[in-house]
Amino acid sequence: MKKYDVIIIGSGLGGLECGYILSRKGYRVCILEKNPQIGGCLQTFRRGNISFDTGFHYVGGLEEGQSLYPLFRYFGLTDLPWRKMDENCFAEIVLDGKSYCFASGHERFADAMSSYFPHQRRQIAAYTAFLKKVGDNIMNSFFPERRNEFTASSLYERSAYAFLQESIDDPLLRNVLSGASLTMEPNAEQLPLYVFAQINNSFIQSAWRLKGGGSLIADKLVESIRHMGGDVLTHAEVMRLTEHNGLITSVRCKNGEEFSGTYVISSIHPSLTLSLIPDSRQIRKIYRKRIDDLANSYGIFTTHLQLKANTVPYLNRNIYIFRGRTPWDYACYRAGEKTTAALVGFQLPCESAYTSNIDILTPMHWQEVAPWAEAKDESYRAFKMRKAEECIALASEKLPGLKAHIDRIYTSTPLTYRDYTGTKEGSAYGVRKDYRHLMYTLLTPQTPIPNLLLTGQNIGFHGILGVSMTSFFTCAQIVGMKSLLKELET
Ligand SMILES: Cc1cc2nc3c(=O)[nH]c(=O)nc-3n(C[C@H](O)[C@H](O)[C@H](O)COP(=O)(O)OP(=O)(O)OC[C@H]3O[C@@H](n4cnc5c(N)ncnc54)[C@H](O)[C@@H]3O)c2cc1C
Repeated sequence: MKKYDVIIIGSGLGGLECGYILSRKGYRVCILEKNPQIGGCLQTFRRGNISFDTGFHYVGGLEEGQSLYPLFRYFGLTDLPWRKMDENCFAEIVLDGKSYCFASGHERFADAMSSYFPHQRRQIAAYTAFLKKVGDNIMNSFFPERRNEFTASSLYERSAYAFLQESIDDPLLRNVLSGASLTMEPNAEQLPLYVFAQINNSFIQSAWRLKGGGSLIADKLVESIRHMGGDVLTHAEVMRLTEHNGLITSVRCKNGEEFSGTYVISSIHPSLTLSLIPDSRQIRKIYRKRIDDLANSYGIFTTHLQLKANTVPYLNRNIYIFRGRTPWDYACYRAGEKTTAALVGFQLPCESAYTSNIDILTPMHWQEVAPWAEAKDESYRAFKMRKAEECIALASEKLPGLKAHIDRIYTSTPLTYRDYTGTKEGSAYGVRKDYRHLMYTLLTPQTPIPNLLLTGQNIGFHGILGVSMTSFFTCAQIVGMKSLLKELET
């Protein structure tokens, strides 16, 4: 049996970042990934010479002094070929045919919004200042000695929807401000304010695409981990954890290989983690039931369009399109309803002024694909094609003639994610956080087994920024909060 200081299950962003932090701290780590490709949601796939992203399209806050910058500087990721998105319009929100631009920078954002809603200028300024305050303080809330009144539970136990109702009078403006929320499942009854504010703030700070796709992030982290003496193994699906005297003593993979570590960190869904130790003495039935019962966010249906060469000019912004519904409605659409919301993202070209491919993302609940969970047949393919046609029709509102420029169409559904990343119910953002039941839905890294820790999007926050913050929080349980904070700040 191979021995390490830390065994990490899963090589998505959460697993790799924990591997990086602990390797840098001198721990010998081994990351076990079930797939042939590392990266989880950061994976890309190639068709011909075109590369398609899967669970990564853009990040926010990558300039010095902003939310993601110190974390990505620590991980050595700021030198990747990032390209800033249009400062005057990194996100175009299209509500029933009318466009509103999100501009980068808090002042520019407030000015742009006020040009559409001059009567709401004061409320827009207050809203923007509030988002900034959340962004400036959210990381501190992880560290007890840095907590303040603002980051206390009042921020966590507030509803995003109610906050908008209370702070913005104009209902249309409320919908515009919520227009980029496909990235967080905008459910009026559950979405906590901290999720809404933290994500929107980071994109308002500055928005960035990556030339070459999300797999560059994973590749760079793996290279650094290996350079520091760690191992990253693919084709290593963890099937079983063995518990002895209240601790995890070994990790067994599908191919029979066994590993041991002083600590085990799992970046996969907590319920799937517990299923790896069915006979644990430490995990009580009630804890297992609580974790198994957690609801998960919706999944995403993506229509990946390969375009004919030099037909569609590259657009340095994302377009969020809504038809006949508000951003707050589409988290609760019913299976079989027509597609009324989509995020259209463009692949950053290397040299050309034209893009080679476009992704159209729309929410999709697990129930919609559940009939094919065991076996996919012709009806599944027909379902995907029907959905893709709807997405293309929606995107054509802003990109007239798009259909004529399509060379090939590829699709992915929550079933694809269930199969590739093992995510429960193909959920895009993991465990659904609920401001009414925060104690239950905002998990901490600790488990009843002292040397088994959790990380990744199911724990604190989702998205690239959220998972990165959570990675620090998880590793702080091993190396201590103070030393990590110090390194982060130098
Ligand atoms: C369609 C889509 C678009 C998105 N776009 C963006 C975006 O533009 N910007 C942004 O900030 N966020 C985006 N996100 C969210 C972001 O990608 C995720 O929050 C983040 O990457 C999750 O990382 P993770 O490490 O928690 O999980 P994952 O990436 O799911 O990693 C888990 C890993 O564990 C592996 N695994 C599972 N079971 C086992 C096992 N038994 N043994 C070994 N390995 C196992 C999986 O194969 C996977 O590699 C998007 C998500 C989706 C789905």
